[in-house]
Amino acid sequence: MKNIVVLGSSGSIGKNALWVISRFPEEFNIFGLSVHSDTETLLSQIKNHNPDIVCVADDKQARHIKSSLPKDTKLLQGAKGLEDLASHPHVDIVLNAVSGFAGLRSTLAAARAGKRIALANKESMVAGGELVKKIAAEYGAEIIPVDSEHSAIFQCLKSGRDMDVRRLILTSSGGPFREYPAEKFSEISVEQALNHPTWNMGKKITIDSATMMNKALEVIEAVFLFDLPHQKIDVVIHPQSIVHSMVEFIDGSIIAQLSKPDMCLPIQYALFYPQRREMDRADLDFENRFSLDFQPIDNQKFPSVNLARETLNLGKSAPVVFNAANEAAVDAFLMEKIKFNDIFRVVEKTLNNSEPEYVDNIDAIMEADKKGRKIAEEIINGLRS
Ligand code: NDP
Ligand code: MG
Repeated sequence: MKNIVVLGSSGSIGKNALWVISRFPEEFNIFGLSVHSDTETLLSQIKNHNPDIVCVADDKQARHIKSSLPKDTKLLQGAKGLEDLASHPHVDIVLNAVSGFAGLRSTLAAARAGKRIALANKESMVAGGELVKKIAAEYGAEIIPVDSEHSAIFQCLKSGRDMDVRRLILTSSGGPFREYPAEKFSEISVEQALNHPTWNMGKKITIDSATMMNKALEVIEAVFLFDLPHQKIDVVIHPQSIVHSMVEFIDGSIIAQLSKPDMCLPIQYALFYPQRREMDRADLDFENRFSLDFQPIDNQKFPSVNLARETLNLGKSAPVVFNAANEAAVDAFLMEKIKFNDIFRVVEKTLNNSEPEYVDNIDAIMEADKKGRKIAEEIINGLRS
């Protein structure tokens, strides 16, 4: 029996994870759950899964649910609470499905405690990749990607030697604006941008998918997860989201992982790796005709992936700043403070106005994140006036 903690259990990945875990009551015990402010969902999850420990954002949320908690459920709060939950000695697996930079500290805490980390929170790897890897190696933690592209690559890599990899090919649906004219990007509403063609996800990653900043973050995530330079990581548009990514070996052989777009598959894979378990919800139906399309990415229309490459060339704190600027820009877009295409501008300008600094510890990363957000916010305010 393995004890699992699901961080971000009220979110899209969190809920899928609870569905997966609930299918294996003999193998998993839900030891801990965390939400930020959605205490209503947390209370219903407590009823269904009876965790030992739960964590919420702050004192206000804690007071809000305290009286409704079962007597034996321990309540933690804040970033420190999340770290304590992620590193609790009874825990075997931490599924990190927090959204955004806020997930980094708990990834690091789980790494330092030598856990298996089923990592959905890609921002952890983008902002803290080097440090997370170093600490994971030092304390024997395992990082198994949940992000579908990285799970696909992780699986495809099993068919050859790392030294024989020519390149990774990340697929992207292209998002809802793949065919939309770039001249009209400034007119895109929040509602339009939140309507993703193939995946049903949290707000932040849905906007990231629409701008293709998600793919940009994923290129950086892949660089750190798989120890490859970005020059060996390509992106191809694949609107059906069935081929989740591919690995090309030096003899030209390309290995791909296919399934219906359903996050329960990479979640389950990360929990059981190296084993596999039965599941049929991501099965492909070859009884009906379907086709797979691939096309090159339009870097003029979507500058995101090239911005990620520039970020990686800059190195040092640039990925932290890239992520911070994007988070600030997405928030501003969701609050209708800036236009859709301003997101690219904010990220690019923030990078240009920042000096990359060495970030080899969490305090330096936090500081770089803060600085990046501040510069991005000034740029956002400038765009508004
Ligand atoms: P959601 O927005 O649906 O869920 C986010 C979860 O994190 C919620 O439980 C939320 O709590 C919690 N949370 C938000 N902010 C904080 C914070 N500051 N501190 C602690 N907890 C917080 O996001 P998704 O499930 O879509 O995505 C989660 C992560 O997984 C992201 O990093 C995303 O990029 C990645 N991912 C998601 C995929 C998907 O299909 N959804 C696919 C691949 C990767 P509350 O509800 O209370 O606000
Ligand atoms: Mg992905």
